[in-house]
Amino acid sequence: MLRPVARLVCLLVACCLVVAGSGLAAPSVASSAEPADMPRDGAQSQAASLLDFDETLRWLELCSGPLSIPLLDNKLCTHGPDPAPAGYDAALPVLPLPNGEANDALETVVCDGDGESGSRIQVLYVYRAGAENRLDRVRLSLQAWAAEADRIVQASAAATGGERALRFVHDDQCQPVVRAVEVPAAAVGGFDATITALKRAGHNRPNRSYLAFVDSTSAGICGIATVWADDRPGGGNRNNTGPAYARVDAGCWDGFTAAHEVMHNLGAVQHSAPNASGGFHCVDEWDVMCYADAPRTSTRVECPNRADDLSRFDCNNDDYFHAAPPRSGYLAHHWNAANNRLLIGATSQSDDDKDKKDKKKRKRGKGGKGGRR
Ligand SMILES: [Zn+2]
Repeated sequence: MLRPVARLVCLLVACCLVVAGSGLAAPSVASSAEPADMPRDGAQSQAASLLDFDETLRWLELCSGPLSIPLLDNKLCTHGPDPAPAGYDAALPVLPLPNGEANDALETVVCDGDGESGSRIQVLYVYRAGAENRLDRVRLSLQAWAAEADRIVQASAAATGGERALRFVHDDQCQPVVRAVEVPAAAVGGFDATITALKRAGHNRPNRSYLAFVDSTSAGICGIATVWADDRPGGGNRNNTGPAYARVDAGCWDGFTAAHEVMHNLGAVQHSAPNASGGFHCVDEWDVMCYADAPRTSTRVECPNRADDLSRFDCNNDDYFHAAPPRSGYLAHHWNAANNRLLIGATSQSDDDKDKKDKKKRKRGKGGKGGRR
């Protein structure tokens, strides 16, 4: 079976990394207590390695599943590239939108606070060193595609009787801010390398999801994103903390692919969901997150509106997104992406409170299963 083998390989790689002491960040507790250039003594070094090892095991546990790919350089997780939707070719760049169409799309963006504080989606324009920085020409379209992704969130929440919207880093005109990032040419070729370059440029905040529109078709990527296999309900879910990264390449620049990748960042679709594919997608179409993501995976139509394939999250709202899930349903007891802090209208604060109460209960010996799958 692929999964045990892949897991074993990952564990071996992780062990080698720990032994070599390369690539893995030392825990902040250990590193903050000493000057950076002071060598550790043996006991300190051993303790740090154990912490590194524990942290690595935890990371791999959060990257479970037959299609999961640990991103070794950044200790993140992805399911790999998503295929291009019908009508798109990852090798053919999408043209900018007409200004009128783009401006119309931007009318639905919701402002929140100062546009900077708290958990937010940061839109990036990424281009390789030596290539032209086209941000001035494509900024309005990138903002519009981000807004279209947000519109899918808003419509999906409204369909469940609630309100949610992507909380963007936005300007005082309520438009998503797009920051340009020049990265080394080699960083465009792979997702892990892209993330490394973005982090080096300062885009590494734990309260950010970075929606990176990459101005290239050379990698053959349509869209790809980070996600964690963590189905625990409540604010402590790993998907509620970043940094998270969603990448959309120039052949697939549009609202649909941006929405799909951002929804992965929000924590969809968990493997335990009733209609999960096992690869962070679903199989009950029509739905933005559903498709046959492996040769032996098949889909079935449970929501007959074909347009929902490009415009609506969570057919029947029983797998990953519901603004007010029924108490008896799966989402009342597992991770619900509608509660992610990155969304305006989410209930993460109350979930945090609930987490604390649950922890107190467990300490008193009243806890349930008391752990992840
Ligand atoms: Zn996907």
